[in-house]
Amino acid sequence: MTRTAVVTGASSGIGAATARQLAEQGWDVVIGARRVDRLQALADEIGARALPLDVTDQASVDAFCAELERCDLLVNNAGGALGAASIAESDDAEWQAMFDSNVLGTLRMTRALLPKLIASGDGIVVNIGSIAAREPYRGGGGYNAAKHAVAALTRVLRIELLGQPVRVTEIDPGLVQTEFATVRFGGDEEKAAKVYEGMTPMRGEDIAEAIVWVASRPSHVNIDTMLMLARDQTSAQVVHRS
Ligand code: NAP
Repeated sequence: MTRTAVVTGASSGIGAATARQLAEQGWDVVIGARRVDRLQALADEIGARALPLDVTDQASVDAFCAELERCDLLVNNAGGALGAASIAESDDAEWQAMFDSNVLGTLRMTRALLPKLIASGDGIVVNIGSIAAREPYRGGGGYNAAKHAVAALTRVLRIELLGQPVRVTEIDPGLVQTEFATVRFGGDEEKAAKVYEGMTPMRGEDIAEAIVWVASRPSHVNIDTMLMLARDQTSAQVVHRS
């Protein structure tokens, strides 16, 4: 029996690396994101199935999930940050978009696939949080709030699923070099490059390895949370730069 893994936000970064490694490990991988051309190119390369997915749209989530016969692993990875404004200067639209993708996106996907995860007899949900889920920082307002909400949702889910055959994990990365910073700064590559200047960030592959490890523990072992930082980073804003 081949187990099915669903990875959201697999058109780049952590999600793409995760899809690749899960396919290498023999999982039947189904990937979703909005940029379908990129998704399809990856799917063709690794032998996965690509389906359009916007986690902020319930109809899109329903259509995506209706295509699945089973689901053994759900990686809620779609999301990211928008802007770095202070609370005083925050933009409502950015906050709403961050909540919609990171928090409600995770909720929509989990709620839709929970029956299949339970029916699998050994389901796993891995939510990608962030160091921002643990540590508030200057300019982090909306993203901190959204990822703290992801952490709360993850803990409640773990409590509510106690006694069911579904494990729940939150992985909280620090600095990972992906398209994250480019998206956060609205396509400003110069600003994005500054985030990683003079230090060695993690790569999407590093987080993917952790996800594969979590999903390959024996069924009775639940990795509840994992904080992953680059050696050059000790907290949200303490980074060694040479
Ligand atoms: P990324 O390269 O920008 O990838 C983000 C992915 O999310 C893309 O595939 C994007 O695809 C997808 N996505 C965004 N909104 C979506 C939506 N509404 N529906 C479906 N897919 C959506 O950044 P990344 O670093 O890999 O980010 C992955 C996750 O890691 C995010 O949750 C992020 O918050 C978290 N994280 C990142 C870092 C970091 O430093 N990079 C640190 C901590 C946590 P489309 O645009 O094609 O839809």
